[in-house]
Amino acid sequence: MLKITNLHANIEGKEILNGINLTVNAGEVHAIMGPNGSGKSTLASVIAGREEFEVTQGEIFMENENLEDCSPEDRAHKGIFLSFQYPVEIPGVSVTNFVKTAINESRKAKGLEEMPAKEMLKLIREKSEMLKIDRKFLSRSLNEGFSGGEKKRNEIFQLAMLEPKLAILDETDSGLDIDALRVVADGVNKLKSKDNAVILITHYQRLLEYIVPDFVHVIHNGKIVKSGTKELALELEEKGYDWLKPQTVI
Ligand code: ADP
Ligand code: MG
Ligand code: MG
Repeated sequence: MLKITNLHANIEGKEILNGINLTVNAGEVHAIMGPNGSGKSTLASVIAGREEFEVTQGEIFMENENLEDCSPEDRAHKGIFLSFQYPVEIPGVSVTNFVKTAINESRKAKGLEEMPAKEMLKLIREKSEMLKIDRKFLSRSLNEGFSGGEKKRNEIFQLAMLEPKLAILDETDSGLDIDALRVVADGVNKLKSKDNAVILITHYQRLLEYIVPDFVHVIHNGKIVKSGTKELALELEEKGYDWLKPQTVI
């Protein structure tokens, strides 16, 4: 589904990603871990096509298509979803209306008609029941006064409605309390399937007790320095990241 080869990226002339190689197949959950400032969020932003980052080398392929010339919108329409680390408040726009607009924009980009209202309602009902989201929540203004858990509920609801092929969830936030953590974990566990894939960015091992990743990768200085299975996350919890840093010569 996603193939990244030798990816290098800069911001303001400073190299942040320094040769990332990563392959994600349908049906897989990949956890990306690493110390603060190692480039995890940058990798997410570059996959999503955020324009403040300059790709200087390497390629990103989504279903064998090079994303080089794709805008963030094109990438979203190709099925890449990136969670917001700092969600914006939109007073007067409800959770439901936001997601309706997103769905119809995406259909428009594919040359489809708007989703009929009845069908949309059915979809909303189905997904909100599955995720145990109540109606009151759906009519609230987007992110306005949302708790950490509610922000996550909104995000997972968007994910459920938009059904992206590749979901990238950047959970760096120290704001991930136990409620928020459960919302993310239950949501991801319900939504994952053999046809989609998840990249879960976190520097907490704790989240991975609830979402069991197929692969764990550690980023350090913009490079994947170690890959493994879920046991690697346990090892990191125990030993920290220092043992993975490239050796310094004294
Ligand atoms: P992580 O998510 O692993 O904590 P980031 O990808 O956020 O790391 O940051 C990696 C490096 O890139 C850091 O040194 C950070 O200061 C730098 N960086 C990230 N975003 C920007 C930006 N918008 N402007 C300048 N430097 C940035
Ligand atoms: Mg950070
Ligand atoms: Mg980050």
